[in-house]
Amino acid sequence: MCGKNDAAAKMSVPVADKGEPAPPVDKALLADLVTANHILYRHRVVDAFGHVSIRHDKDPERFLLARNLAPGQVTADDIVEFDLDGAPVNAAGRPVYLERFIHGEIYRARPDVMAVVHSHAPEVVPFAVVPTQPLRPLWHMSGFLGEGAPVFEIRETAGEDSDLLIRNNELGKALARSIGDGSVVLMRGHGATIAASSLRLTVFQAVYTQMNAELQMKAMGLGPVIYLTEGEARTTWESVGGQADRAWNLWKSEAEG
Ligand code: MN
Repeated sequence: MCGKNDAAAKMSVPVADKGEPAPPVDKALLADLVTANHILYRHRVVDAFGHVSIRHDKDPERFLLARNLAPGQVTADDIVEFDLDGAPVNAAGRPVYLERFIHGEIYRARPDVMAVVHSHAPEVVPFAVVPTQPLRPLWHMSGFLGEGAPVFEIRETAGEDSDLLIRNNELGKALARSIGDGSVVLMRGHGATIAASSLRLTVFQAVYTQMNAELQMKAMGLGPVIYLTEGEARTTWESVGGQADRAWNLWKSEAEG
C-alpha cells in the first residue's frame, strides 16, 4: 500500500538530531539567508519547492538550511543546522528537506562554495532534457555559465526507476561530481543546482541562470544562436560578478519592503 500519507512522509521527514550545534552563525548572514529565500521565491527560481543554504561561518563542516517549508515563508526561526552528511543538529523533530544531501555533498566536495541553491525553475528544465541543446551563455550577464552547464543524469547512479530526488549521500556525491568546478549543474527531468563562493553570488547566478534559459529559448526560435566564446564568458563574468551586490540590494528591498 502506498497511500497519500506514505507519499507525504517520503517528501517530508523528521530525522533524529546528531551532534552539538556549532557557535551561533553571524546574525547578518542568517538574516541574508532568510532574505535569499524570499528573493528566490519572488524571482520564481523556487516555488513551494526548492531551497537555499549557506555554509556555517564558524564551522566549515556545517551548513544552514530551512526546515521543510516553502521558501517564501521561511523566517530565521526556521533555519536548521546540519552536518555535511545531511544529519540535522537542532531540528528538534521538525521535518527537514529530503534533498538536503545536495547541499552537504557539494560543501564537502567544494571548499570554495559558501552557498547552494536547488531549483525546479521550469525555464531551465527543457535544457536538462534535450542533450543536443545545452544551456549556454548568450549575454554578458551570464558568463558564469562558461562553456555551458553540465547535465546530471541520475540514472547512472540510481538506475531506471528512481523518483529523481537526491535522497541520500551517494546521489549527493554523484551530483557534486557533475557540477565539477563550475557553478551550475542541470538535473535531467528535475531542475538545477547552483553553487558559488558567497550567498549573494549564488542568488545572482540562480536568477540569471533562469533568465539565460528564457532568452535562449526565445533566441533559438528565431534562428541559430551566437553564444559567448569561452573568453567572453570569462571576461564578462569578471566585470559583472563584481556588481552582484547592486542586484542583491534591489532584490532585498523588493523582497523585504
Ligand atoms: Mn528537487
